[in-house]
Amino acid sequence: MRHTRSGRAVVIGGSVAGLLAARALHETFDEVVVLDRDALPGAPEVRKGVPQGGHVHGLLARGRAALDELFEGLSQELIDRGAPVFDVQDDMEWWVDGRPLARAASGMFALAPSRSLLEFAIRRRVESLPNVRVLAGHTVTGLLITSDGSRCNGVRFTDDMTPGSVEEADLVVDATGRAARGRIWLEGLGFPPAREQRIETQVTYVTRRYRREPHHLGGMAGLSIGAYPGSSRSAFTLAQEDDSWVVTITGRFGAVPPTDDAGMLDWVSDLASPGIAEIIRDAEPLSEPVKMRYPASTRIRYDEMERFPSGLLIVGDALCSFNPVYGQGMTVAALEALLLGRLLKEGTDDLSAEFFFAAQALIDVPWSTVAATDLQFAETVGDRSGLDPERGAYLAHLRRVAAQDAVLASAFLRVAQLVDPPAALFAPEIVQRVEVAG
Ligand SMILES: Cc1cc2nc3c(=O)[nH]c(=O)nc-3n(C[C@H](O)[C@H](O)[C@H](O)COP(=O)(O)OP(=O)(O)OC[C@H]3O[C@@H](n4cnc5c(N)ncnc54)[C@H](O)[C@@H]3O)c2cc1C
Repeated sequence: MRHTRSGRAVVIGGSVAGLLAARALHETFDEVVVLDRDALPGAPEVRKGVPQGGHVHGLLARGRAALDELFEGLSQELIDRGAPVFDVQDDMEWWVDGRPLARAASGMFALAPSRSLLEFAIRRRVESLPNVRVLAGHTVTGLLITSDGSRCNGVRFTDDMTPGSVEEADLVVDATGRAARGRIWLEGLGFPPAREQRIETQVTYVTRRYRREPHHLGGMAGLSIGAYPGSSRSAFTLAQEDDSWVVTITGRFGAVPPTDDAGMLDWVSDLASPGIAEIIRDAEPLSEPVKMRYPASTRIRYDEMERFPSGLLIVGDALCSFNPVYGQGMTVAALEALLLGRLLKEGTDDLSAEFFFAAQALIDVPWSTVAATDLQFAETVGDRSGLDPERGAYLAHLRRVAAQDAVLASAFLRVAQLVDPPAALFAPEIVQRVEVAG
């Protein structure tokens, strides 16, 4: 049965997950208010509340498709603004476990806007929805909960004009990112702490933008050199708007990449492919290097809580934050928004429980990729009890032979891009191909 909802929804956080949630909510609520503590820039710019915005942000093929479902024509709009679009397998080089994946036309297209351009374009779309208001400079300081603790019915916030104000709501969505404010507020209100799953890799990113020239990387749109046990440095570059490259170099387990030219070059000098070293050495820098530490992937199990207030949802990085080297966060935020929109349209008596249950099923897939890959490193701290060594050995073999076999490389990338489920790598024809390859 379709429920028609009315009333007001308040979203805390106007970054990618909050804006996409607002897009989902606007169809069923009379009014949607997005509150962000930052001054939101009138142009694509990195801002204080999203410090990761200056670093490479790959948008997976599944994420691009999901964004187009949420905002018709968004890909084209980004292309018109200069974001490169390219075949994920043919126009980009992927080094996995120290070997390149075989290249071929895959029909899987990715888009590479900068993180700032993508958020800006999404915000403009959301601001144009007639019943949505995006309010900058509004810092939410807590949740309003009914006296019996059963329902969340608004938020407290401060802004320049009115410290200590209240915004009442029929639904509150926490999209405050990794800081996961909602979790802290709930604990402060006496709710038991939700279980947190952690996979600690202590990754540090150093990123700089360079001028892109046609001869760089032999005309390709990107290069990814992944870490693997025995080689824990990685590097990634993508072509972006304004004829630029965004280059990110990373270290794990507390190893911090340098930010000076010679040090950056040295950091990548013994990586499997020379492409990133060539850009750092030859291309004109367009920005100063920026650094960011990312201690651990975190997944908060609100779905397991016995007591949780109705009228409250938690989305995006606040619900699950994935090691960014796999580029999954924005895609998962888009898939959560599609899920939320579907649940609201179908109608449900217990939106929070249904959302958390279905969102965890959605998160299972990208989380299992992070777990299987990161827990291969002896230094990673995390729960290894769910790992299946036989499955791990098969997948390592598949990745090895995918260096020569473009069909297997495509199958691997389709799963990594969240286009196909992991089970696709166990389809009989794929298993046979892996076996035949020896
Ligand atoms: C280094 C790095 C690289 C990444 N690379 C990729 C990538 O390649 N591909 C990818 O898909 N994802 C990547 N991610 C993840 C991606 O950045 C996030 O998934 C995405 O931004 C969605 O996050 P979010 O909207 O949940 O939270 P955030 O983007 O962190 O935004 C949180 C928002 O909440 C606001 N806020 C916080 N507290 C309050 C408050 N009390 N009151 C009001 N507002 C508040 C902040 O101002 C901010 O706007 C990366 C992350 C990191 C750290």
